[in-house]
Amino acid sequence: MPFWSSPKTSLHQRLQLGLGTMLVPLLMLAGGALISFEGALDSFKKQDNVGREALFPLAHVEGILLDLNVVASPIESSHSMTWEEYQQHSQAIKHSLTMLLEFSHRNPTQFNSVLEIQRKWQRIADLCQQILDPSISQSRQDWSESAKTELQEQLKMILQDVQRLNYRLIAFQNDANVAHAEIVREQVRQLIAIICCLALALAALFAYGLSQSITVPLQSLEEGVEKLGKGNLSHRISLTTKDEFSHLANTFNLMAAKLEQSQRDLYRLATLDGLTEVYNRREFNRWLMVEVERSQRNTDQVSLIMVDIDHFKQLNDTYGHQAGDLALCEVAQLLQREVRPGDVVCRYGGEEFAVILPKTNGSDSVAIAERIRLAIAEEPVILHSLQQIEMTASLGVATFPANAKTKEHLIKQADQALYVAKESGRDRVHQAQQDCVDNNVIV
Ligand code: GH3
Ligand code: MG
Ligand code: MG
Repeated sequence: MPFWSSPKTSLHQRLQLGLGTMLVPLLMLAGGALISFEGALDSFKKQDNVGREALFPLAHVEGILLDLNVVASPIESSHSMTWEEYQQHSQAIKHSLTMLLEFSHRNPTQFNSVLEIQRKWQRIADLCQQILDPSISQSRQDWSESAKTELQEQLKMILQDVQRLNYRLIAFQNDANVAHAEIVREQVRQLIAIICCLALALAALFAYGLSQSITVPLQSLEEGVEKLGKGNLSHRISLTTKDEFSHLANTFNLMAAKLEQSQRDLYRLATLDGLTEVYNRREFNRWLMVEVERSQRNTDQVSLIMVDIDHFKQLNDTYGHQAGDLALCEVAQLLQREVRPGDVVCRYGGEEFAVILPKTNGSDSVAIAERIRLAIAEEPVILHSLQQIEMTASLGVATFPANAKTKEHLIKQADQALYVAKESGRDRVHQAQQDCVDNNVIV
């Protein structure tokens, strides 16, 4: 697994390792260049020997041939060569010529003149024997003089051939060196190109891995912050690594969780009644407005039930305020239990509750109100002291748009219906009448 995707490598370590490994391609390039340079030098050292094995024997042959000039000299001198000395030279020349022949066999087109040199040497060897061999030279003195003359001539010609071969060898050596240099140059060029490609690929891979290991988590963090900024407090950042980014992501998630909790608390505080935990008066107004507007748009009806506990003051006075609070909570729960999921239960104030019934006509809402009234009357509140408190409630029902033209008018109509229920003896439901619509009351 590469270091950048290892979950335990920190960002700090990754940057150090990543930038460090960037040096690898550079080292590869430097090492490759050094190896190529050394290889090229080695190759030239070996190439130096091309043709050299032929140059040395040729120089040897040339030296001996020059020495043989003494033999061809018409003047007797103290430096003249003996038969034995000549035989040693002859052996050396034969040996050198054999080496040259071997070389010429490998390069026959370039060095065929070796055969010519060998042929001329045969003649020179014959002439030298005639001059120096004691058995022949003492009996054929005159003939020896003419041999010397011919020897001079032959030596001149063979030396010319030797020098020509020498030039050709040097030229051959230069040509071979140039050709070799071309090959080496091509090899070095290819090697450097391969190393460059490898180094570039490696550098690109390291750079990609390193940048991915930074940009991917950074993108997740950026997305998370953006979503949080747009109000999506439930979003959490999930990173698999264990580095500074994951630490940042954890801190972010913690902050988002706290914000989400605070928002939830704020929402509860702003919308729910602190005692009964049903919607408060402000939410009642908002919901009623929403439902009345929806009703206006869809021509559905919306009904409102106002519930007021009868003689609640008396209950407080008899059982105490805490018992009163408990009774309010019980009624709130009962209301939530008795209505449908889409209906909205609110505490309107004191011991008065309001229930908004979307898409409900007058007769249905009266039936629901009657169900609520019965439930309150039939379910006594049981105190901690196991005392039972019997309660009743009066309910006023009004429907929009049958009984009211506006939201405020609807509240007023339901309130008036409640008042009529109270006045009629309590523990009953009263519905606002059709003729209750007072056009002058529109707000
Ligand atoms: P009615 O049958 O005419 O409605 O008589 P009532 O006694 O219920 O009405 P009234 O308006 O005279 O009294 C309401 C009482 O409700 C007065 C008040 O102390 C009590 N109350 C209002 N809010 C709370 C509350 O949060 N807790 C308790 N325990 N009592 C409350
Ligand atoms: Mg009351
Ligand atoms: Mg009241």
